[in-house]
Amino acid sequence: MVMTKETEKEPVKLTLRVSDIKPELCVHCAACCTVELHLNNVNSRMRQFYRSVGLTVKPDVGIDKKDCCEETHDCTVVLGPCIHLKEGMVGGVAGYICDVYDQRSQLCQEYNCVAWALAHNTYNSHNELLLKVQKVYDQLHQMRG
Ligand code: SF4
Ligand code: SF4
Repeated sequence: MVMTKETEKEPVKLTLRVSDIKPELCVHCAACCTVELHLNNVNSRMRQFYRSVGLTVKPDVGIDKKDCCEETHDCTVVLGPCIHLKEGMVGGVAGYICDVYDQRSQLCQEYNCVAWALAHNTYNSHNELLLKVQKVYDQLHQMRG
C-alpha cells in the first residue's frame, strides 16, 4: 500500500484507462481484493443483523440511526479482505501479495477495474474503488518521477 499524504485531500481526478491497470499497479492497490456481496431486496431487519454481527453494510447508516432507512432495497455487504491477501514489500515499496497468485480464480485473473466500471456505466467520481486506484496510480507516478 502506498501511504496517503494529508495534502491529497483535493478532489481526485479520474484519468485511469483500461491499459493503466497492470500488475505493477495492482501490487500496490489490492482494492478489489476486499470481498463484497451484492444482495437484492434486503429488508431493514436483515441489514441491521448484518451490522450487528460486525459486517459493513452499504449504504451507511445515518447519524444516530440503526439502519439507512426502513425500506427493502439492494445493498452491499463487505466481508473484508480476501484470506489470500498478504501485506509485503514489492520492489522496495509496501505492497500486497496474493498467496495463491498462480492458482487464483479466473475472475481474479481477468478483472480490470476500469473495464468493469466502463461496462457497468460506473466510471465516475462517485466510484470509491476507482478513486482509491487513481490515488495509488498518481502516488506511484509521483514517486517514480
Ligand atoms: S482495483 Fe484495479 S488496480 Fe486495484 S488491484 Fe484491482 S484491478 Fe488492480
Ligand atoms: S485470490 Fe488473490 S487476487 Fe483473488 S481476491 Fe484473493 S488476494 Fe486478490
